[in-house]
Formats: sequence, C-alpha cells, structure tokens
Amino acid sequence: MPEGTMKAWLESSHLSGGNTAYIEELYESYLDNSQSVSEQWREIFQELPKIEGADVEYRHSAIRDEFRELAKQPSRQVVVSSGADAKQVKVLQLINAFRFRGHQNANLDPLGLWLRDKVRDLQLSHHDLSENDFDKDFNIGSFAAGQESMKLGDLHKALKKTYCGSIGAEYMHITSTEEKRWLQQRLESVQSSANLSKEQKLDVLKGLISADGLEKYLGAKFPGAKRFSLEGGDSLIPMLKELITRAGTHGAKEVVIGMAHRGRLNVLVNVMGKNPSKLFDEFGGKHDEVLTSGDVKYHQGYSSDFVTPGGNVHLALAFNPSHLEIVNPVVIGSVRARLDRRNCDQGDLVLPITIHGDSAIAGQGVVQETFNMSQARAFKVGGTIRIVVNNQVGFTTSNPQDTRSGEYCTDIAKMVQAPILHVNGDDPEAVVLATQIALDYRNEFKRDVVIDLVCYRRHGHNEADEPSATQPLMYKIVKKHPTPRQLYADKLISEGSITAGQADELTAYYRKLLDEGQCTVEQWRPMTAHSVDWTPFLGHDWDDEYEKEISIDKLKELAAKVAKLPEDHPVHSRVKKLYDDRKKMASGEKLLDWGMAENLAYASIVDMGQRVRITGQDAGRGTFFHRHAVLHNQEDGSAYMPLKHVREGQGPFDVHDSVLSEVSVLAFEYGYTTAEPAGLTIWEAQFGDFANCAQVVFDQFISSGEQKWGRLCGLTMLLPHGYEGQGPEHSSARLERYLQLCADHNMQVCIPSTPAQVFNMLRRQVVRPMRRPLVVMSPKSLLRHPLAVSSLEEMSTGVFHNVIGEIDDIDKKAVEKVVFCSGKVYYELLEQRRRNEQENVAIIRIEQLYPFPEKELQAVLEDYQHVKQFVWCQEEPQNQGAWYCSQHHFRAAIPAGTYLTYTGRKASAAPAVGYMSVHVKEQQALVNEALTVE
Ligand code: AMP
Repeated sequence: MPEGTMKAWLESSHLSGGNTAYIEELYESYLDNSQSVSEQWREIFQELPKIEGADVEYRHSAIRDEFRELAKQPSRQVVVSSGADAKQVKVLQLINAFRFRGHQNANLDPLGLWLRDKVRDLQLSHHDLSENDFDKDFNIGSFAAGQESMKLGDLHKALKKTYCGSIGAEYMHITSTEEKRWLQQRLESVQSSANLSKEQKLDVLKGLISADGLEKYLGAKFPGAKRFSLEGGDSLIPMLKELITRAGTHGAKEVVIGMAHRGRLNVLVNVMGKNPSKLFDEFGGKHDEVLTSGDVKYHQGYSSDFVTPGGNVHLALAFNPSHLEIVNPVVIGSVRARLDRRNCDQGDLVLPITIHGDSAIAGQGVVQETFNMSQARAFKVGGTIRIVVNNQVGFTTSNPQDTRSGEYCTDIAKMVQAPILHVNGDDPEAVVLATQIALDYRNEFKRDVVIDLVCYRRHGHNEADEPSATQPLMYKIVKKHPTPRQLYADKLISEGSITAGQADELTAYYRKLLDEGQCTVEQWRPMTAHSVDWTPFLGHDWDDEYEKEISIDKLKELAAKVAKLPEDHPVHSRVKKLYDDRKKMASGEKLLDWGMAENLAYASIVDMGQRVRITGQDAGRGTFFHRHAVLHNQEDGSAYMPLKHVREGQGPFDVHDSVLSEVSVLAFEYGYTTAEPAGLTIWEAQFGDFANCAQVVFDQFISSGEQKWGRLCGLTMLLPHGYEGQGPEHSSARLERYLQLCADHNMQVCIPSTPAQVFNMLRRQVVRPMRRPLVVMSPKSLLRHPLAVSSLEEMSTGVFHNVIGEIDDIDKKAVEKVVFCSGKVYYELLEQRRRNEQENVAIIRIEQLYPFPEKELQAVLEDYQHVKQFVWCQEEPQNQGAWYCSQHHFRAAIPAGTYLTYTGRKASAAPAVGYMSVHVKEQQALVNEALTVE
C-alpha cells in the first residue's frame, strides 16, 4: 500500500491492527460487491492499489498481507471507538467465530456423551454483544443469508442453526477463498437444513427401515453369527443411496466403494442389491462360486448397476481383507483405471467412495498416504468421498482417547485441506445435506472431502461380544436409545409427512422382501454399465500358447523411435551419451543393453495400441540411471518422452515418479490392474527391500486375490535384487518371501538375466491372455554388465525362456557337474569358469522360479543324464533366496539316483553383511565352491 494511502487510512480508521480479521472480511465483501460496505470503507478500499489483470484473489491476498504486516506493528495500534461501527466489527467477528468454531458446539453425538467445553468465541459476551442488541440491524458481510443486513437476534439464531446444529462443518482451514465461500454459501443459505420434499423424506425413511430391518432379520435368523452389524450407523444406507443417485444425476457412470467389515452385509444387500437369499445361503454355509479358497461373507465384494435420473451407474464394492484401510488405495487405483479407460482426466465419470472406521482413519498410516496421493499426478482421481462411520469405539473396545491424539478422528484430512462435515447420525436429513454438499464440493473442486457420520455401535465388535463389559456407561445409554429408524419415523409422523400406519407398512414390506428372498433395492439393475469385459482373460494359464514373434523390421523401426532425441531438447551429457549408444543399438552397431531392451518392450506394447503405466519412486529415470524414459531439457526443465511419440494412435505411455510410499502405491497399482486387464502396469521398488513396507499388499491381495475372490490381476513388480556389497538392506528383495507365497499357480516369480529376456518377459505379460501377477527380481549391476547384452534377433523370437541351458560350446559329455542358478551370480560363475578354462561344469539358468518350468528343465537336462553332481548356487544366505522353497522342484527334475547340494552363503539373520571386504570374500567362495567338482 503506498505510504500516503496508508497514512490516510490510518488517520480515518477506528481500528487497531488486531482487528484485521474484520478488515479482511469487510474487504472481501467489498470485492464481491462494493455497495456492501459503508461509504467510509468504500472510499478507503477504492484508494487501495489495483493490480491490472490480476484476479480478485490475488489482489485480495496482496492487500491482506499488507494488513497482516500492519497488525504486527504495535505503534499503529488504535483503539476501537465506541459506537455503532465498533458493534458492527464485533458482529462480523461473531460470524467468523461461528464459521471457525461452530462445529465444536454442534449437536453431533447421538448418545450425548461427548464432553465438550463451551467455546468462548461463540458467546455473545466474548464479542461485547448481548441480547440487548438483538433488535439492532447489522451488516452481515458475506454471511450467505440472501440479504445484506440482519437483526442481531436473527443472525445469532441463524448462526447457531447453521453451525451448531446436526452438522459441524470444519472448513476454515482451507486457504482457497473460493472454496471457503462456496461452502459458506451452501451451508448458510439453507442454515444447514436439507429442506427435503415429502418423497425424499420417504426415501430416507425407507433406507433406514432397510438398514434396521436387515440387521434385525439376520439377528433373529442367525443368532450369534458374526455379521458386524451396522446398527447405530444406519444412516450410512440413505447416505450411500443419495451419493450414488446424485452422482449418477450429475453424469457419473461408475462408483467404486471400499469399506471394512462393519456394515458391509447391509451395504451389500441394501445398496448394492445383492440378493438376500444369497446372503442367507452364505450364513448357512452354502456358496455357489467355485474359488480355490473363497472368503468369508463380510469380505466379499459385489458388482451391480443402480438406476439414477442420469442413467445407470455401475457399482463395484471392492473385495477387502481384514487389514483395515488398505482397501482405500486399491479403490482409488481401480477408479483411476476406469477413468483412464474412459479418457476422463477430471474424475467426473467415476466416483470413489471410501468408508472408514473412526479409529482406523486416525490410526492407520495408509490413510495419510492416500490423502497425500490425492492430488499427485499419477494418482489423482478428481477427489474421493471419504465417509467415517464413527461409532466412537475403536476396533473392539477402545475409547477415543486411547485411539487418537487429535480432537477429531478426521484431523488427518486437514493435511490436504479437505473440508470435514461432521454430522449426527441420528439426524438423517442432516446426513443427506452433508452428503449432497460433499459430493458437489468434490465435483466442483476435484478434491477429497470427508463426512464424519457420528453414530454408535448398538452391539459389541461382533454379535458374540458383550460391549457393556468394557463400555458400561455408553451401553447403558445405547440400550435405551431408540433406533434411527424409530426416531425418524416418529419425526415424520409428528410433522404429518406420513402416518404411523404407513411407517408400519413400509417395515412390513421390507420384511416380506427378505422372507421372499427378493432384491431390496428398487434402483438395482442387472449389470450392463461396467466398462470392461474380462471374459477373454478367464481360464488361462501361464504356459498358454500365444502369438510371440515380432519382426526384425518392426523392432528396428521401434528401436529408432526409442533412441530418438529431438534436436531442440538438450539433455544432460550423460543422458546424451546413453542415447547415442541407443542409436547405435538401433542401427545394429551395438548389442542392446537392459535399458534399451526395456524401452523397446514398452514401445512394442504402445505400438500395439495398449497402455503402459509405470510408477515407482524413480520410475522415469530408473533408480540406477538406466531407463531414462523421461528426458529433462537442461535449459527449460521441460520433459520429453520418446515413448509418447511412437506412432499416431499408439497406446498411452504413462511413467510417473510416485509419492514416497510403497504400501499405498502398490495397493493403488493392484487396484488399477484388477480393473484394467489390458496393457502393462508396473510398480517398481526403488530397491527391492523397499517392498517390505508393502508386504500386506503382496500377502492379502496380490498373491491370493484370485483364489479368494476370483479377481485376476496382471500387475508386474520390478524389485531390484542382487548381492553387490550394498549391505543388509539394499542387497535382497527377499525372494524367499514371494516364493513362499506361491501355490495354485497364483503368480509368477522371474529372474531374467538378459535384455532379450526382460524384453520378452514384459511383452509376454501383455500378449499372453493370462492375467496373473509377475514378481521380478530385477537387476542392478547387470544393467551395465558387458555380457548382459542381446541382439534384436533374440528379441524377435518373442520367446521368454523359463530355463536357459549352457551357452558355451563345451563338450556336454565331459560335464561332471551341473550348476543351477538364477540372476546375476550366473555371470560370475560363467566368467570364473571361463577363467578356469573348465569344461566339466555346465551352468543352467532358471529364469522363472514359479510356476516352475519342470518340462523345460527336464528337456535341458536331457544332455546331462550321465551327471551325478547337481548343485543349486545362490548368492543369498541358505535360509533365504530360492533354496528352501524351490529345492523340491530342482530335485524332481534331476536324474533318478543323483543328488542335489547347496552352494551359497550360510544361513544368516540379516540378508547380507555390511562390510564390502567380507562380501567379496563370501561371493568368491560361493562361486568357487559351485565350480569345484568332487
Ligand atoms: P466391476 O467393474 O469391478 O464391478 O466388475 C464387473 C465384472 O467384471 C465383475 O462382476 C466380474 O465378473 C468381472 N471382473 C471385474 N474385475 C475382474 C477381475 N479383476 N478379474 C476377473 N473378472 C473381473
């Protein structure tokens, strides 16, 4: 602000610097409408500098900063004068106080157990106001009441109704003025009342009747059986139906929901439209799907369509293990896949809904990770609706003070400035309004939003539990507390919206539907609206035949594209050198290295019109500087990706450096690939051991999702692995853990040792119709090993060799010992044998450890039927690596009467030693031992 203007302003001001909140408020009003402030203020604001071309927010923020600076200067303190202007200031401060802190005195807890202090800022006296001022008119600034001024009495009532009723809105932590104003407008213009039509009220009641009716029915029919009842949180059902209906009306085509087990059966039957008779069968122990293992009923997912005024919406409830909250990134990944398929980058066509428990949302780190992902390029989906079924009991028996440190369980959402709408679960109309605002906010601003459904749990953790044992006071109240259905039916009867007879009829009708085993969801439709057909991928196995070859001409053409660097895109000299080499590889002057082979595989896939998606902490460049799929312009920082320029109409190539997380990124990619059978999806761990942090995703989804839930997943995981003296952590990707999870041909574990192998392995994952996870122990030093090179001809066969026999021209009859191995140790064995000029040892590489290629190994062993010594050689300690999990496969392949021995590091608690010298000694010893013929 220019000196002169500021001086004039100060001279004419009644205000101290401490009143900047008021000035901000007034100035914002002035920006919205210059007539909304008094003439005196208008004159002051008119004198403020204008920045041509800048938007209102910018001008405002610049001036706001000026005010803030001013506020810090004690010399400028002037006392608020008495009189009308001073009161006006206080009134605007009162409005602000309600916006900031109204939620703290809102009526949120249906049980009335929350002990909340009176908030001083919400008291009239705190603002030097009193009921004596109630009849006086005041300017109400931006308070969205549809008028400029109000009597203080009316304003006070409106503020209490808006901010201290059944909705406690937390949104003043948002810095965007536009978003804050939008939320204010939505809440204040209706004073937080839903104003539902009679028909809408009836729908809400029906939702509550169904929620309550199903639980009572199950409780009576299957007493004591675990069902993780929704009772107490019944409003979740009308909430979800409102969300889906409104989303469909606004153009959404698919909704994907993730939730843990509480209330899941209710959602399945009363929202998704699962036939109750199927559920009853499951309670009775019957199941009609023939899955290898199957899963309990409260982990089941479901798919259906739901009719809305905007057309049918496809609903998918994600399958979910017991591990709380891990389903969130899975759901969001599934949504991203569906959005990508629909070429929708704004999120309008597919809506994610995640349903959380109150202690889980606060306690589980994966929630923070998904909030952190919510606006990141690789993972954003245009916002997620996050619902907390806040039943005030953590997990089985914990009280909130033991399960979190923040005021609300939802505090974590503030990290991304998500608005949080706390709502009393016993006021279903408020629930509907909160739901509408949440969805509209998500659609408008493409950001996450939270609805905290404050409710209670009518029974114990499961139906066999006795909750009074640990929560005696709460359950004294719960036992006497009427159900949400009862409360709402009574309300509608007393206001004359329905008669008692109608309420009873609806209840009886719902029960009849259950008795007859009929679908209870009027909006349910048979499934037609989902966007992908999985049938071509069903019923295949890893050794299926498929079109493999790719012509040399095509490879040359693609290689030239992969190696092409635009002239006007200067890159770092090291990258330039790498690309110069790639040009030589493309023209046949050099054999191809790993990075080139990988890029060529991606090029061949996008050339087929299929998508490639790679995420990982260093995915663009590659942890070890080998991939360079993204070229950074050294002058302007812009990025160029050769793989986006393969041909017109090619498949998308998406490579993204991920957020720094393993568990939620891997879960996201699992979700992505279980919703998208086409193309290649890769998650790359920066070092293989980083995948330790994502073990739950391997255990509970990747390795067993098909067997538990019949959901295929073609995700590829690149886990750098190899003993190069980098110490206990960065040596091992813990191969043994993946092998231990292998059964039922559930996934593939591969250790490719040449560029041609990685090329064909990646292509195989796409071209072959089978969709199963692929765990790859990917290399580090082999990326630049002079022997780890391949020709275009080797790639052109399209064959991934599960077993590679001896490559040197040795006399097979002279062989006395056969060494089996996988990965980089192969090259050490080969080089040592060559140095030794040995002819009596053959080295056979097992490139796919699971499913084990018995026949291929046996075919290779045909030449060695005379050999008596067979050894498995590994770099890993004996209790790790492939030895314990795979030795039975090796044994089964060797000739009868022969035996297999082990060569490698001795068993060890740590994966590797931390001293380079010890590492080198160990490595040399194991190579020597493997090559020694007894
Ligand atoms: P959704 O769009 O997830 O509701 O899936 C719709 C239908 O596609 C499901 O009912 C399944 O029949 C099939 N489907 C979806 N995902 C998979 C998958 N990962 N593997 C096999 N079939 C699937």
